[in-house]
Amino acid sequence: VKERGKNGYKFYTEEMNRNSLQEKLLEANLHKALETGQLELYYQPKIECKENKIYGVEALVRWRKPEEGLIAPGVFIPVAEKTGLIIPIGNWVLKTACQQVQKWKSVGVTDLCISVNVSAIQIQSDDFVRTVSAIIKEAKIEPQLIELEITESSIMENSIENIMKLNELKDIGVRISLDDFGKGYSSLNYLKMLPIDTLKVDKSFIQNIEYDPREKVITEAIIQMSKALGLTVLAEGIENETQFHLLKELNCDAMQGFYFSRPLPIEEIDLKLFPRECY
Ligand code: C2E
Ligand code: CA
Ligand code: CA
Ligand code: CA
Repeated sequence: VKERGKNGYKFYTEEMNRNSLQEKLLEANLHKALETGQLELYYQPKIECKENKIYGVEALVRWRKPEEGLIAPGVFIPVAEKTGLIIPIGNWVLKTACQQVQKWKSVGVTDLCISVNVSAIQIQSDDFVRTVSAIIKEAKIEPQLIELEITESSIMENSIENIMKLNELKDIGVRISLDDFGKGYSSLNYLKMLPIDTLKVDKSFIQNIEYDPREKVITEAIIQMSKALGLTVLAEGIENETQFHLLKELNCDAMQGFYFSRPLPIEEIDLKLFPRECY
């Protein structure tokens, strides 16, 4: 950048301005999206291996943008995190998930749990525990039916404080899962410090598991370690029958992936759930 001289520098700043302008625009649109109901939750089934049954779903946010269609979270969550919009969006996600649990309850279904993804920014906000408790309480549902998916990177900063917050939520019955395990940092230290119920093995381990014996060995070790620690272990990103059988052989407790179902809108999930067969 230095060698470019004046013009090069100017070009660079213009591009930066353009990027931040795009971001500002996205932020404004996203804000509007939240207020005008353009956000939707899609749900992906989680399958319990012993009985081949759907025992819960993961809520994944989507943005139905007029004229543009469905926008994936990978596009807007990073901006939402950067601008703080993730706080109201995260609250909306949790609230909508709780209302869904409440709807199932009203038709007699009381054993389906929903997991929601939680960003670091949310955990770090001062009233995280209060807000989460209030939303669950207002929906009048069993806190056990809500699972918060966190990642290791989300507790790295201020870890003591964040772990305390998770413990408080754990105390009221909310479940915690560690998402994307094995991707990135993976300090095994967190496994003993965090009050987690479920460990989700990252899909990168599953991708080549049929071909790479090393992936299989590592996954097997993670599964055994999780079990020895009393955790439920779920494998993410199961895309085919071979992977399904392999993970079953490795004694994995639960699975999730396109092989069972893509994330779907609630109407389609309900069709899958009643009757509760997944294939
Ligand atoms: P994640 O929490 O790891 O969610 C799993 C992602 O993998 C989802 O992508 C899902 O559609 C995809 N997936 C599921 N099964 C398979 C499979 O068999 N193969 C492959 N290749 N992919 C599969 P999605 O919905 O695009 O979400 C991407 C990420 O966005 C999520 O990753 C999560 O980190 C974030 N996200 C989604 N919804 C929310 C939300 O409400 N709040 C926050 N903070 N983050 C969210
Ligand atoms: Ca997740
Ligand atoms: Ca994941
Ligand atoms: Ca993730």
